[in-house]
Amino acid sequence: MLIDGEWIYDRAPCHQVQNPADDQILGPVPGATDADFDRALAAAQRGFEIWRKVPPQERSELLKRVAVLMRERAKDIAPAITLEHGKPLADAEAEVSRSSSFLDWDAEQLLRTYGRVVPTQHPNYQFVMREPIGPVAAFTPWNVPVSAAGRKLAGTIAAGCSVIIKPASQTPASTCLLAQCFIDAGLPDGVLQVIHGKSSQVSEKLILSPVIRAVTLTGSVEVGKQLMRLAAEGVKPSLMELGGHAPVLIGADVNPAKVAELAVGGKFRMAGQLCVSPSRFLIHEKIYDDFVGEFAARAGKLKVGDGFTEGAQVGPLVNFRRIETMQSLVADAVERGAKVLTGGERVGNSGCFFAPTVLGDVPLDARVMHEEPFGPLAPCTPVADMDQALSIANDIEVGLAGYVFTNDVEMADRLSNALECGSVAINQFTSPGADAPFGGHKESGIGVEGGMETLDSYTVSKTISQRRV
Ligand code: NAD
Repeated sequence: MLIDGEWIYDRAPCHQVQNPADDQILGPVPGATDADFDRALAAAQRGFEIWRKVPPQERSELLKRVAVLMRERAKDIAPAITLEHGKPLADAEAEVSRSSSFLDWDAEQLLRTYGRVVPTQHPNYQFVMREPIGPVAAFTPWNVPVSAAGRKLAGTIAAGCSVIIKPASQTPASTCLLAQCFIDAGLPDGVLQVIHGKSSQVSEKLILSPVIRAVTLTGSVEVGKQLMRLAAEGVKPSLMELGGHAPVLIGADVNPAKVAELAVGGKFRMAGQLCVSPSRFLIHEKIYDDFVGEFAARAGKLKVGDGFTEGAQVGPLVNFRRIETMQSLVADAVERGAKVLTGGERVGNSGCFFAPTVLGDVPLDARVMHEEPFGPLAPCTPVADMDQALSIANDIEVGLAGYVFTNDVEMADRLSNALECGSVAINQFTSPGADAPFGGHKESGIGVEGGMETLDSYTVSKTISQRRV
């Protein structure tokens, strides 16, 4: 834990971290005591008072130094990600690089936290300023431990806030290595705290404290709702980056083999454990057979293995519970008439590996069509036309990412406008980087990270009017 600039190790462990590739225990995580929470909150209050007064140019320079340190240390941070999470080392290195880009972007955006002058009727002044909202409680997931934490630390600290972050219990060390970059870049004590403990206890202690002025979570819809209920007690705004269940709409006019090749890369990256992972494939019936045949053949050839193994393309799932979830989603789909075209089973008897799986003819009432699989499962369903695909795509409570494949420009335009989600990629599997807003519609979240809006959730407006008396 990091409190007021001091690393703390000697506490009773709240849990052990396990390597999902070989089931080995990596080490214990110190759990925060009541006194630690009190200290962390007091430090965050003090840190905020110090940091908010630091000139924007200095805050910006510091964040840029953090980004440089992250890139210099990518070779140390990435192995920690792979040990805790299991993803291939190259993906872990790419994550550190992506995370550093959020620091660079927010470092620039904080220099553009403009106010405005509002015309008034009298010979007065009325102007609007953006101020940092105050100490923020941040919660991050295990699937992108450095990328999600990087976004939240960049945004809060750029805005002039202090922050207490609780990393996911499965992946604490990589977030701690990121925090060390902030310390080494010269961040004053108290601006950043890292806390571990039982999730429900940490959220109550932090969010219900009057010190905390805003909440930010990247995580599941379920936990998002729990944290928002706590935040409502103190009328605290919440930035929520929650789960999705991304539809992929594939028209009759594309080359099915080419799209299948792209789909394998998009779907099985990080073993499908990505919030924007394509997870409901809705394919025009004219090319359905060609597409699923190629998709399954390519998926079946992917190399599954420990993220440190040369050439491994698909790492383990984060824990054994995820294997059980995959098994139960596959069994449910098959019971309702789906076919396993490839995969469908655990790989090996140790570690949490699950084969890249393509399911064909998945009926709409199968659980996997409504529950975010968050794993290497690709359910495929034929559709008669793109209107049917659109209606299935939108018939769900979440709306994070969506994908459209067609060479018909009008169709692409119509579908991307009609999809109920925060980002749409056409003929590719990409998601917004630092330079564009990223966030969900419907139950996938509230607010955005990135883009010119990146600091909105961590700042509040103040209108000042002034007249002569
Ligand atoms: P999660 O919601 O279980 O956990 C997220 C964080 O909240 C972790 O730090 C966890 O320890 C903590 N947490 C869990 N229960 C809590 C509680 N009761 N009180 C306080 N904190 C609690 O999510 P996860 O399993 O770590 O991550 C996977 C989910 O995150 C998926 O649904 C995925 O789609 C979503 N996700 C969304 C985005 C996005 O940007 N929209 C990005 C990555 C992941």
